[in-house]
Amino acid sequence: MARESAAATVIEGATGPWEMVIGLEVHAQVVSVSKLFSGAPTVFGAEPNTQVSLIDAGFPGMLPVINEVCIAQAVRTGLGLQAQINLHSVFDRKNYFYADLPQGYQISQYLQPIVGMGSMIIDLADGTSRTVGITRLHLEQDAGKSLHDQHPSLSYIDLNRAGIALMEIVSEPDMRSAEEAGAYVKKLRTILRYLGTCDGNMEEGSMRADVNVSVRRPGEPYGTRCEIKNVNSVRYVMQAIEVEARRQIDILEAGGKIAQETRLFDPGRGETRSMRSKEEAHDYRYFPDPDLLPLILDPAFVEALKADLPELPDAKKARFVADYGLSPYDAGVLVADRASADFYEAVAKGRDARLAANWVTGDFFASLNSQGWTIETSPITADHLRELIDLITDGTLSGRLAKEVFEVMVETHQAPGQIVEERGLRQVTDTGAIEAAITAVMGANADKVAQYRSGKDKLFGFFVGQVMKQTEGKANPAAVNELLLTMLKG
Ligand code: ADP
Ligand code: MG
Repeated sequence: MARESAAATVIEGATGPWEMVIGLEVHAQVVSVSKLFSGAPTVFGAEPNTQVSLIDAGFPGMLPVINEVCIAQAVRTGLGLQAQINLHSVFDRKNYFYADLPQGYQISQYLQPIVGMGSMIIDLADGTSRTVGITRLHLEQDAGKSLHDQHPSLSYIDLNRAGIALMEIVSEPDMRSAEEAGAYVKKLRTILRYLGTCDGNMEEGSMRADVNVSVRRPGEPYGTRCEIKNVNSVRYVMQAIEVEARRQIDILEAGGKIAQETRLFDPGRGETRSMRSKEEAHDYRYFPDPDLLPLILDPAFVEALKADLPELPDAKKARFVADYGLSPYDAGVLVADRASADFYEAVAKGRDARLAANWVTGDFFASLNSQGWTIETSPITADHLRELIDLITDGTLSGRLAKEVFEVMVETHQAPGQIVEERGLRQVTDTGAIEAAITAVMGANADKVAQYRSGKDKLFGFFVGQVMKQTEGKANPAAVNELLLTMLKG
């Protein structure tokens, strides 16, 4: 059920064009106060081995007990991805040895995952959208962490992460460029954050992607893929894809073959390196975990979760376009996270919605960037912006003066009304005052007035500038233009 891209990125090789094929497996840590099968806490950054139950440490005789919150989170995520919710699913043991896996197996889901086929819309930089198929979502335990940098000759193990619930979200091989893969990760992160099912903090490792890349001649069947493990930022996902596709093309063009393998991306060197040859499912000797019954969901449980879902980004974007008259681009920027969408709606309420969008996505977002503020910590509030918009709408401030007032808001954190009062920044609309300024300017520039009158129209801009200067930038620009036209005629 691959969806062909309307415009797959074609890579020109030495021997002709190539196209890349990309599928992602994203591991997303479930937001839950306790682990998937134990009551141990999941707080990030705690002292090593302080959040470990006997179950997580693989002690004999311990029995896993499923955490209902994690189940609900997986179902809500599945619903957010327009996916099939499987009322019957099974937990399996995936057997392998690793020092950070005390049980000797990971409890995961294999043939019968909790969530089946779904889809997600990705939004591209040129304003177009595409649909990417979701293959499945299953629940599994995270492993612990080996620490190799604490001691010159020993490795340490931290089991705080062992047993935390992960959702593995697998996409169809539907993406055809690094940009599409980047857009996929961003959109998935946005949806998970809206749902509150994963915090999406890639730098803390709570969301990480395994990136599958292959190349083929356009129109040919899929080529052999390599899987790049545990990539932990959107930028690295995109870089890893570019270098891996290039590597594969070079091999194929030299007459070689791609070995299916697991690779690591090294951002420092900008290359991928072989880690191990690809393991097959049968290597893991999957079998249903005998400690856990099949998971049977009551349809009413799923219905209740569905009824309780928040408005998701695509729906919000469509509403912003329809109700506020925003461009799809601006709407997309605003809904990219829930806090900015809410902030925008607070500003736009009862105001000119497009003017509000310009201020929020323009000067306001720029101030967050330059000052290192977030919407939550910004001293400039939605009320401040509403007040500023009111001052523009009622003619107190011209667009130019409003920008000046905003700069002062960034510096002093004061309300715009107060700044206007204290600094006398209100716009001059009084025609008498503007006329007086024009008369003064004309008097001081008699030569230019004569040139203008003899046909040098270009000088008009000069006069506008002089009058604005004379009024310290406060004159209403429309009034200046209108009065200048008549007065310069003489
Ligand atoms: P496995 O279970 O061995 O990891 P899957 O069939 O589950 O294999 O696929 C894993 C991921 O690889 C999926 O995201 C899928 O979209 C992607 N994928 C499968 N075939 C290809 C291919 N030829 N090129 C790129 N990605 C692929
Ligand atoms: Mg897989």
